[in-house]
Amino acid sequence: MPEAATLFKEWSGYLKPEDVTRLETAYHFSEAAHNGQFRDSGDPYISHPLAVANILAQLHLDPQALTAALLHDVMEDTAVTKAEISKKFGKPVAELVDGVSKLDRIEFETHEEAQAENFRKMLLAMARDVRVILIKLADRLHNMRTLDAVPEPKRKRVARETLEIYAPIANRLGLNSIYLELEDLSFRYLYPARNRVLSKALKAARGNRREVVSKVGEAIKKRLKHDGIDAEVHGREKHLHSIYRKMREKRLSFAKVLDVFGFRIIVKDVPSCYLVLGALHSLYKPIPGKFKDYIAIPKTNGYQSLHTTLFGPFGSPLEVQIRTQEMHKIAEAGVASHWLYKSSDASLNEMQKKTHQWLQSLLEIQSGGGDSVEFLEHLKVDLFPDQVYVFTPKGKILSLPRGATAVDFAYAVHTDIGNRCVAVKINEELMPLRTELRNGERVEIITASHAKPNPLWLNYVITAKARSHIRHFLKTVQSRESAQLGERLLNQALGAFKASIGDVKEPDWDKLLKDTGAKSRQDILADIGLGKRLSAVVAHRLLSLGDAPGEERKAGAPVVIRGSEGMAVQFAQCCKPIPGDPIIGLINKGQGMVIHAHDCPVIAKTRADPGKVIDVEWAPETKKLFNVGIRLVAMNQRGVLAKVAAKIAEANSNIDNVAVDPEHDDQYATMRFTLQVSNRLHLAQIMRALRRIPEVIRITRARS
Ligand code: MN
Repeated sequence: MPEAATLFKEWSGYLKPEDVTRLETAYHFSEAAHNGQFRDSGDPYISHPLAVANILAQLHLDPQALTAALLHDVMEDTAVTKAEISKKFGKPVAELVDGVSKLDRIEFETHEEAQAENFRKMLLAMARDVRVILIKLADRLHNMRTLDAVPEPKRKRVARETLEIYAPIANRLGLNSIYLELEDLSFRYLYPARNRVLSKALKAARGNRREVVSKVGEAIKKRLKHDGIDAEVHGREKHLHSIYRKMREKRLSFAKVLDVFGFRIIVKDVPSCYLVLGALHSLYKPIPGKFKDYIAIPKTNGYQSLHTTLFGPFGSPLEVQIRTQEMHKIAEAGVASHWLYKSSDASLNEMQKKTHQWLQSLLEIQSGGGDSVEFLEHLKVDLFPDQVYVFTPKGKILSLPRGATAVDFAYAVHTDIGNRCVAVKINEELMPLRTELRNGERVEIITASHAKPNPLWLNYVITAKARSHIRHFLKTVQSRESAQLGERLLNQALGAFKASIGDVKEPDWDKLLKDTGAKSRQDILADIGLGKRLSAVVAHRLLSLGDAPGEERKAGAPVVIRGSEGMAVQFAQCCKPIPGDPIIGLINKGQGMVIHAHDCPVIAKTRADPGKVIDVEWAPETKKLFNVGIRLVAMNQRGVLAKVAAKIAEANSNIDNVAVDPEHDDQYATMRFTLQVSNRLHLAQIMRALRRIPEVIRITRARS
């Protein structure tokens, strides 16, 4: 690795002097931040960011990208913050460093092919700026070049990740030289034995090959000169990993794979490409079906060249690529070659515009091409992401539409998980279920066996799956619970005539169904529970007493409230009744029954309507906890709230809500709690305990 000063001098070949000065500042900043850190090789850490920047400088990337490359590890490995980088080197550089750091935090754990593909998409989707990916690839390339110093088994893990994730990304972006080098290095560390055998065989074959290459090369040069075409002719060496891949995929022997000679011919313009092609085809016979015109129809990553295969003079096929200087640059550097800036301060917007133009030009070239649909698909996913990719706790990747929440995620994992979810941990932090998910997050759903979908979820879920499951659940549960309540209400109404449901005869049910047009007995009961039908009217009909209950309606035994009625019975928010309080039931059409305190002022008017009021009483024992409001006045001193909260917890109650409003004189504070209690006795115990706190002046139950 050359000295920093030498590199800066090299870079100044394409950068402005003031840019180089700024890069020197970034270098010294990074060096100071990494001071005292060393690589596995024993080198000072700064050698790594410098090497990464140099890889990008070879691609002639802009100064912002090089600055970010020099700083790419400071956020992860040192105390330097994004804000600090932004202040010193500008927001675009800070965004780039932040982008690279985010990618670093993702760990690739699975070896399934489909998962690898998702992972590649996720990386591309997360990197809103292509330069983030370029920096990441350069980072990976340098790490691979220095992998010797890394101990096993980390070495193998890094090599596999490179082969499955980063090399394909480099290929997709058309970064040919990086792609080939990443593959060869991965191959060497992942399959050391195969690599040794192949490279030995390749070395042995090389002597003979070199002779063939130089003879054929001379023949081609002579021919082109004769035809008056100016061209560079290069023999191409095969890469180890591509030999290995060909052997595996095409089931060929080493000798067979190697029995091909590669040449590359570079000319000044497109017409010359076709002239070279003509010249070659008259020198050696072309093998039919092997000619490809990637100049007229470029590859999806922008690659252009003419490919042809010839019958060589020694019986071996010759593979020839013909291209212009410009095409060669794109073939080697791919997408990066579109990032050669004249100006050093191109803003992100301008760059996005450039990317867009580049994509647009590719699209135009693509039109008519066979795989353009697939190309568009990739484009959509990779560069205009409308998906988010997140991890399950087991490291599997799920893709969800942008805007999806934790509840959508839960239903995507499994319907049961969705139906029972109560909370979510995102990157180990407890978050509300409505939280929108972002790329790369690790999402863990917390479930409870008794939990049920909440109707409020419908306000924020965005996937069809979550929506339909929540709707379905609510509908079936609500109708079941309403039918159960309806049955009890009907029994009560029948009780007024000293009858019960068991006494009703089949023909009477059938007649009722026919008359009302209801589908089933269950529907009638659910309608009663929901307040859509009056229990007294249904009771009259079933007992064939005629339609009108009239004024003579006598009360049956009260309906017993157990607190376990689910959605069919709600407890009024105004008076918050608890077991022990005298209560009254009010039927609201379509909503079911609401339980109020007997003396609740809110219902004073409604209770005059006998059709709506139901006689109810508490079951001797209820299992549920009920919300109740209390108002507490205490000395306005530090720590009072904590004392009160501790006493409440001691008394086995939960605080559902608390609001503190200090009174005018600052001496007293009024707190309003909503507590969860089992009944009046429980509430009395809590209030007694609270009164024993010296700072507490007054405590009352709060009613609207
Ligand atoms: Mn790094």
